[in-house]
Amino acid sequence: MKFGTKVIHAGIEPDLTTGAIMTPIYQTSTYAQESPGKHKGFEYSRTQNPTRQVLEKNLAALENGKHGLCFGSGLAAINTLLQTLNPGDEVISTNDLYGGTYRLFTKIFERFGIKTHFIGMDDPMDLERFINKNTKLIWIETPTNPMLNIIDIKAVCEIAQKHGIRTCVDNTFATPYLQTPLDLGADIVMHSATKYIGGHSDVVHGALICNDDALAEELYFIQNSVGAIPGPQDCFLLLRGIKTLHLRVQRGCENAAVITDFLLAHNKVKNVYYPGIETHKGHHIAKDQMSDFGAMISFTLYDDTTEAAVKVLERTHYFTCAESLGGVESLIGHPATMTHAAIPREERLAVGLTDSLIRLSVGVEDVDDLIKDLSDALDG
Ligand SMILES: *Cc1c(COP(=O)(O)O)cnc(C)c1O
Repeated sequence: MKFGTKVIHAGIEPDLTTGAIMTPIYQTSTYAQESPGKHKGFEYSRTQNPTRQVLEKNLAALENGKHGLCFGSGLAAINTLLQTLNPGDEVISTNDLYGGTYRLFTKIFERFGIKTHFIGMDDPMDLERFINKNTKLIWIETPTNPMLNIIDIKAVCEIAQKHGIRTCVDNTFATPYLQTPLDLGADIVMHSATKYIGGHSDVVHGALICNDDALAEELYFIQNSVGAIPGPQDCFLLLRGIKTLHLRVQRGCENAAVITDFLLAHNKVKNVYYPGIETHKGHHIAKDQMSDFGAMISFTLYDDTTEAAVKVLERTHYFTCAESLGGVESLIGHPATMTHAAIPREERLAVGLTDSLIRLSVGVEDVDDLIKDLSDALDG
């Protein structure tokens, strides 16, 4: 089955009792048992829910994986994965990553004796210096947020495999339409399905996908023990959103390419960060491991101040100033004062996240209107 067919059919059958095309929302906490322990495979909705199961199968198929697990948020998914570790274990993570993931690693799991090393993974060989007998997990985010750096998934996974270490890829920015990390050697894929998978800015949701049966069983055990599950209504909204994932991401990529050209030619714009630009340092790896370059763009201004950036954000109309990304509507954000405000300024500047850096999540509107919006905002 090809991707455009999978989003609509994989794991999804018309309802057996009524023929309903859409998967019903099984809004139930429990299930009738014929006699104690004799049931239809459903006992209690923390453990199994039919709406969630259909979504889990569909997501697994999209990532070319065997097992899918859904959670109440992306961070709940990461939390569950980290609970496979034990005190004394170590994680190696990329140093340019989602702020909430960084907080979970440093503020929660460090208290339980799990240490994370944050390193640049531009050169995967650097990894070897941080690997020791306690290293149990390598965490990759690519493209990264908000600098849109690219990490070579295959190269990192080869090193990890040599040492018997698991690798997890946060595939939120790329989506399985553009990149399938399990095919490149990763053990686990994680999603904040809040973003492109849901695609309509109306659900918070997370997922883990893997191939290994034993790992899946361990994750299901933790999912059920810890209980960070999504409700059936949210699972329904995800199933509905996924049906157009390929169309949305494709249009987002097309729009982003046109907007990138516009920004590169604009006299007030200094740097443009987009993996589709040939001079972007990860361009060739992106071209290898992704089928297109995504719909996230960051750029800086010659007037490299917060004030100049804020003016642009206040003037856009279709680009709404908001956190999050990946919805059908275009969003604009200022990482230095919004998503990355907790990072000390010197640390920010060192990775290129300057005061005027603006991040765009390009939606699926008509690109002419989006360009006019940015043009008006930049020209005041
Ligand atoms: C949003 C996001 C997360 C966290 O997901 P939630 O659904 O907000 O819990 C993790 N990683 C990336 C890349 C994200 O954008």
